[in-house]
Amino acid sequence: MLFPLSIAVKELGKRQRKAMAKLYFHYATMNAGKTTMLLQASYNYRERGMNTMLFVAGHYRKHDGGYVSSRIGLEADAEMFVSGDDLFARIAEHHDHTTTHCVFVDEAQFLQEEQVWQLARVADRLGIPVMCYGLRTDFQGNLFEGSQALLAIADELREVRTICRCGRKANMVVRLGPDGKVAKQGEQVAIGKDVYVSLCRKHWEEEMGRWKPEDLVGFAAAE
Ligand SMILES: [Zn+2]
Repeated sequence: MLFPLSIAVKELGKRQRKAMAKLYFHYATMNAGKTTMLLQASYNYRERGMNTMLFVAGHYRKHDGGYVSSRIGLEADAEMFVSGDDLFARIAEHHDHTTTHCVFVDEAQFLQEEQVWQLARVADRLGIPVMCYGLRTDFQGNLFEGSQALLAIADELREVRTICRCGRKANMVVRLGPDGKVAKQGEQVAIGKDVYVSLCRKHWEEEMGRWKPEDLVGFAAAE
């Protein structure tokens, strides 16, 4: 049986919309306002009567319910994810009883590689866009597992910019220990009240002790 053309076009449009759901990675250094962006974007969906599902890393939290909170005071309830969780299964099950229009993941650097693939399948197989927000590199300048996988397979990469003390774009971060000194070694994920500072690559190398001004003696220095 042939559909009238208008219906066929409508069906095609629906299918195309579904096929176009993407996996996004918004990455930044610390303090770049990522979480505020996430909450604003989720609010925009909900304001239009659509449902969103929020995830946050359970690494720092107790298993008594998660939430996403931003530095400017916005907050929303969120589901927690930890290593080993099957995010595709959780989202598919939720979508089954509550149609979900967008999935948001905060602290996406803590995703496992396999979980990033699960989120890719949420976009590809369920037709739900997935917006991940997280850090690109740790304080030693190495990619996190989740960030590496997202940089490799996300459809859209968006850099959330922040500025170094010198005014250049900050693409690195240093961790200050309890003594206020820059940590040069240690675990990738610190438990406790460490402070992070965003720096440009040049100043990051200096703070990390990887470059000293005297190394340039005898060469023409850049500004
Ligand atoms: Zn700088």
